[in-house]
Amino acid sequence: MDFRDSPEEAAFRERLRDWLAGVAGKYPTSGDEYWARQGEWHAELYRAGFFGLSWPKAYGGQELPPVYDVLLDEELAIAGAPPRPSLGYLIQGLGHHASPELCRRFLPGMIDGSQRWCQGFSEPGAGSDLASLTTTATREGDEYVIRGHKIWTSYSDVADWCLLLARTDPVAPRHKGISAFVLSMKQPGVEQRPLEMMSGVTTEFGQVLFDGARVPADQMVGAPGEGWKLAMTVVGHEREPSTLGYAARYGKLVRQLASRAEGRAPDELAWAAVQAEMLRLHVRRRLSEQLDGVTHGPQGSLDKLLMTWVDQSVGHAALAVAGTGDQEMFGSYLYSRAQSVMGGTSQIQKNIIAARILGLGA
Ligand SMILES: Cc1cc2nc3c(=O)[nH]c(=O)nc-3n(C[C@H](O)[C@H](O)[C@H](O)COP(=O)(O)OP(=O)(O)OC[C@H]3O[C@@H](n4cnc5c(N)ncnc54)[C@H](O)[C@@H]3O)c2cc1C
Repeated sequence: MDFRDSPEEAAFRERLRDWLAGVAGKYPTSGDEYWARQGEWHAELYRAGFFGLSWPKAYGGQELPPVYDVLLDEELAIAGAPPRPSLGYLIQGLGHHASPELCRRFLPGMIDGSQRWCQGFSEPGAGSDLASLTTTATREGDEYVIRGHKIWTSYSDVADWCLLLARTDPVAPRHKGISAFVLSMKQPGVEQRPLEMMSGVTTEFGQVLFDGARVPADQMVGAPGEGWKLAMTVVGHEREPSTLGYAARYGKLVRQLASRAEGRAPDELAWAAVQAEMLRLHVRRRLSEQLDGVTHGPQGSLDKLLMTWVDQSVGHAALAVAGTGDQEMFGSYLYSRAQSVMGGTSQIQKNIIAARILGLGA
């Protein structure tokens, strides 16, 4: 494997560096300020030709190989710019399961950042056991009426649209009674309530209550009862580190911590450096496999578990080096605790690895 940039990749990197030199300091990279301006950052990246790199041209992307997304993530981290907004899993979900008409209608706005989206899957009683969700969608004429309660819905405070899972058939076996919809968040019957994270961030996610919200029947994604398939596509992609762009950021954080350690070398920092390098190489290997046409399925659970270990190792190093007094470093430790929960918990990833990769259990 040759990890060096090709001439085209090197030229892209240089163009990106030039552009970043002018904008990097303009946007906050953490806390409520980051979330408040994430939409603006997304649109600016897109206008400059640096967002949607690997997505289809038909929907506003550039159809470049996925390695360009990794180059982007690396350069954003080096320049101290905010990360690339992570939307790939929603785009994969719609791209694989929506009709061409729905894709044409919704993907361009999602990619260029003019429309904001959230993912309405988890409920107070349905997280790991997502198939037990109880939000209902009842057909009335040409519409479905939605009633229920979603929680941990990232970006729900600013979202225009929600990719929603709801039960359309109460008697079908539980995985088969679920359908997926594109629902407008800007309508009566949708109430968003913010949740505060332990890091103090209040704008990242919230709970959403649906009481009589309406979705046109033609905004169902796929056929009735096919929502589970979409959900599996979305969470499968949500678990791949190469699409999340975290790897480069961990390396950057480790280097920042090393420069602040002032000759001390806490074990946590050395371990974080090993882990961050391991993830960098792992992402490269996954990219190389993607270029060879290998698709991953349950392997995404390995990726997610590795990424969680790295995130939490780097978080522990931040705590060991900077303590609790530095707001940004302490924030990165606190946020790392969420990594073993979001996108499916570590216990669930281990169950999937045991059952679907190792073939253990019933
Ligand atoms: C930062 C963040 C952002 C998120 N964003 C979104 C979003 O945008 N949209 C969305 O829909 N959801 C989102 N989530 C929700 C996330 O997907 C759920 O929190 C996650 O799936 C776990 O569900 P739960 O919180 O209900 O925990 P539970 O499922 O109640 O789990 C509680 C504990 O029990 C363990 N457990 C449960 N079942 C098993 C089992 N079978 N075997 C072993 N252990 C088990 C779990 O591992 C966990 O430790 C987000 C979460 C976080 C933290």
